[in-house]
Amino acid sequence: ESLTVAELAKKLHREPSEVIKKLFMLGVMATINQDLEKEAIELIATDYGVEVEEEILVDNTDLDTYFTEDDEGSVEERPSVVTIMGHVDHGKTTLLDSIRNTKVTEGEAGGITQHIGAYQVTVDGKKITFLDTPGHAAFTTMRARGAQVTDIAIIVVAADDGVMPQTVEAINHAKAAEVPIIIAVNKMDKEAANPDRVMQELTEYELVPEAWGGDTIFVPLSALSGDGIDDLLEMIVLVSEVEELKANPNRNAIGTVIEAQLDKGRGSVATLLVQNGTLRVGDPIVVGNTFGRVRAMVNDLGRRVKDAGPSTPVEITGLNDVPQAGDRFAVLDDEKTARAVGESRAQQALQAQRSEKSRVSLDNLFEQMKQGEMKELNLVLKADVQGSVEALAASLQKIEVEGVNVKIIHTGAGAINESDISLAAASNAIVIGFNVRPDVNAKRAAEAEDVEIRLHRIIYNVIEEIESAMKGMLDPEF
Ligand code: GDP
Repeated sequence: ESLTVAELAKKLHREPSEVIKKLFMLGVMATINQDLEKEAIELIATDYGVEVEEEILVDNTDLDTYFTEDDEGSVEERPSVVTIMGHVDHGKTTLLDSIRNTKVTEGEAGGITQHIGAYQVTVDGKKITFLDTPGHAAFTTMRARGAQVTDIAIIVVAADDGVMPQTVEAINHAKAAEVPIIIAVNKMDKEAANPDRVMQELTEYELVPEAWGGDTIFVPLSALSGDGIDDLLEMIVLVSEVEELKANPNRNAIGTVIEAQLDKGRGSVATLLVQNGTLRVGDPIVVGNTFGRVRAMVNDLGRRVKDAGPSTPVEITGLNDVPQAGDRFAVLDDEKTARAVGESRAQQALQAQRSEKSRVSLDNLFEQMKQGEMKELNLVLKADVQGSVEALAASLQKIEVEGVNVKIIHTGAGAINESDISLAAASNAIVIGFNVRPDVNAKRAAEAEDVEIRLHRIIYNVIEEIESAMKGMLDPEF
């Protein structure tokens, strides 16, 4: 296997020009797109103190490929995963808290509930998992990242307030996700409670109670007093049964990150929702763009556990980096592959990020031209006197390499200023200064906007540099 100078530089997180320079000092003449011999690669790597490992071939960097279906015979019933949404102040947090307080500790004496972003309760011998981040922001963020974790949406509507803007938003989010909706008509203890009005208003959104000929479940309750919460839980169990939620506990775990943060003492801490399979301590795992080995697992009662089956939320440590909420995870067969997949996902993410706002520079110019992204090279020209600007512009405009030509988008006499930089930034241009320098503000702006400035004193050098860069034969800088 061979690498070009550019590829090697990328792997070493160095500028290609630096690698070319190094190669030159080691007696190897090379251009940026030249394939390097194995010996040269090893020489450079050793020089940088990096060990050359045979690269593990990773085809399955797409975590989707691990989210496979199981056959009928291998699946079992699993708990439903429920999200509570609704308008602000309608009682989402109160409802989540009172469900937890009334149910979690039953039969689990001594358990100290811990906020890990999700919790489980047991109703009629069946478990229900609640995502403990109320509001549809979390719900939507996860969905936007391709994670569908919710099986049932509870939409809380205060009986004294009725349908409000965020109620409608929540309904639309749940509908877009195609999950069944249960309406919790909250604050029934209040004198002003008017559940009929809530039902009436919701018919506009095709949420019609059974009594009125529809099929939407409405549960009147008081999150504050606890009245009606058991009814709600029973309805959740009922809907779960209708949905026939199944998973295969006997496979490598896959699932989604509910939340994650960096903990001073424990490092990266992530709450994962296992969606299929069983997660075990010691499992090699890829999570989003990071990887690791499950070091310790804690459940929602703050207890250490060794494994976690389908629909179970657990907090894990042992990841190399902090993933994001909504990232997916998959357990792999061995640590080496997990590392390779994780590292290559991180690389891909970095590249995607770079290319999104990748500005042209003389170093990446040829690459951009090759990929057909570049039709012309935009330049902003500044010089000490108007005469030089014109001479320079005339020569540069003649350059044409493989169908790409130079376009001067702005010229001027005087120092490079901030407006030159913002123009260059907006037009993906390089700024050339001939016998002039950038002022302080321009320097700062160029750094912030990642705009390249090239300074010269000899016209011939300007032309040669641009030409070589366009041919991918930029000389290393000494
Ligand atoms: P969220 O913004 O939807 O999470 O709403 P909260 O749970 O923070 O509740 C907003 C306010 O409504 C708080 O002052 C709660 O005490 C109150 N509240 C919530 N549920 C009830 C209820 O069932 N009855 C009454 N009277 N007040 C409630």
